[in-house]
Amino acid sequence: MATGSDFDLVIVGGGIGGVICLKYAKDAGLKTLVLERRERIGGLWRDLPSWQDIQFRK
Ligand SMILES: Cc1cc2nc3c(=O)[nH]c(=O)nc-3n(C[C@H](O)[C@H](O)[C@H](O)COP(=O)(O)OP(=O)(O)OC[C@H]3O[C@@H](n4cnc5c(N)ncnc54)[C@H](O)[C@@H]3O)c2cc1C
Repeated sequence: MATGSDFDLVIVGGGIGGVICLKYAKDAGLKTLVLERRERIGGLWRDLPSWQDIQFRK
């Protein structure tokens, strides 16, 4: 079993914030672990109703 010392970075939460942190960590070559308490990633964005548009800023 992996331990915390096997990683450069541990991210708690697999919401959009955690996923973006993971992208930058991987780009930087860091060995990274994401801990997500639920059975899937996406956080709040996974739970938005289908009628809810997601708006992005450039
Ligand atoms: C109705 C609604 C509409 C929105 N519309 C927009 C929009 O149009 N554009 C926009 O930019 N934003 C929008 N937002 C806001 C956006 O959804 C949030 O800012 C964004 O989801 C926050 O991402 P996050 O990763 O920080 O948190 P979250 O999405 O909340 O993810 C946190 C994750 O961490 C996990 N977690 C929590 N505690 C632990 C723990 N102890 N151990 C392990 N895992 C844990 C949770 O299970 C979850 O998966 C909207 C929000 C709502 C409610």
